[in-house]
Amino acid sequence: MSGAEARREELVALYKEVSVCEKCVLHETRSKTVFGAGNADADLMFVGEAPGAEEDLQGLPFVGRAGKLLNEMLVEIGLSREDVFICNVLKSRPPNNRDPLPGEIAACEPWLFEQVRLIEPRVVCTLGNFATKLLTGNPTGITRVRGVPQTHELGGRTVFMLPLFHPAAALRTPAVKEQLRADFATIPALLEKALPAPMPSAAEIDEAESRVTEAPSPPEAPAADQLGFFGEPGS
Ligand code: SF4
Repeated sequence: MSGAEARREELVALYKEVSVCEKCVLHETRSKTVFGAGNADADLMFVGEAPGAEEDLQGLPFVGRAGKLLNEMLVEIGLSREDVFICNVLKSRPPNNRDPLPGEIAACEPWLFEQVRLIEPRVVCTLGNFATKLLTGNPTGITRVRGVPQTHELGGRTVFMLPLFHPAAALRTPAVKEQLRADFATIPALLEKALPAPMPSAAEIDEAESRVTEAPSPPEAPAADQLGFFGEPGS
């Protein structure tokens, strides 16, 4: 079995685990979990916030008007839904689309990290403020960070992260739609770009720092006249 096939099988096993997940209270009110959908071997992943009402009923991500716009923009850059993987940070719908609570995020985000580890994307596009702030670890709003790729470690991989407006926001405001379209246009070049070298883990940084601390200090340099720079004594 090839590496890709093995990863696909692991992803199917993960899907089965998530579909019965009861790690947070959202399992009590959801209809279906929304694991995500698309190419299990995708170079490009999109991550939104949480399923909405229609996604919750169908068990699929981005199926409404926002999903249709996402599809259109993919086609404009020569891709389709089948080429990418689309999911959310939260796999179960918060009631009435309320903001996810910190405990729910903490319970659910390991599923996303596992998805990234198994799919091995090169580029992860965060859709909207919530997913962007959470995955970049930076509270700066989407309006200021959109369209500028960042490098982050996610699911044990170094990836390019590209913050984008949420397609739902683009549907509400034509100017946002045009900015989203312009940011989408940068994706093909980003997919071609060489991935940065993996960032060292916290443990590796600690180890390197302790080596520096423990290293013996270099011997003091002898004075210049001890080296005979000015000729042999008596010469
Ligand atoms: S939101 Fe995530 S952690 Fe909570 S029940 Fe659903 S799948 Fe499990």
